[in-house]
Amino acid sequence: MGKLFDIFQKRKEIFEGIMNTMFTSKHVEEIAAKRMEVCMTCPHIDKEGSKCFLPGSAPCCGHCGCKLAFMTRSLSSACSDPENPRWEALLSPDEEADVNGKIGYDPGQPTQETNSTDNLNVQPDGSYI
Ligand code: SF4
Repeated sequence: MGKLFDIFQKRKEIFEGIMNTMFTSKHVEEIAAKRMEVCMTCPHIDKEGSKCFLPGSAPCCGHCGCKLAFMTRSLSSACSDPENPRWEALLSPDEEADVNGKIGYDPGQPTQETNSTDNLNVQPDGSYI
């Protein structure tokens, strides 16, 4: 959680980095991986899919039903637990749209770094690569 807090504290620098084109899709993947690490230990995660908004989209957040592979990559999304949010939004939706346009990033498409958007390569033991 400390690393996520650091990321949130550095929000201004991240946005400035983005505007200086130093921010890449790899950075989005790193943020998503850190968020997913938190979700994997959260009591609300649904690894089987019974609470997922879309069938077959596990692991998802049991609070909102969103597919975590997409949710964690959305820089304008925040943890959906209103009582105990475990990670924060880093950008506004408009900022996120600008950023994704500038770095050519589509949260719904595979990237060169991961070559997959499925579950951040979640392993059977719950770890991810
Ligand atoms: S988004 Fe928040 S509430 Fe949902 S699984 Fe992740 S940490 Fe838990």
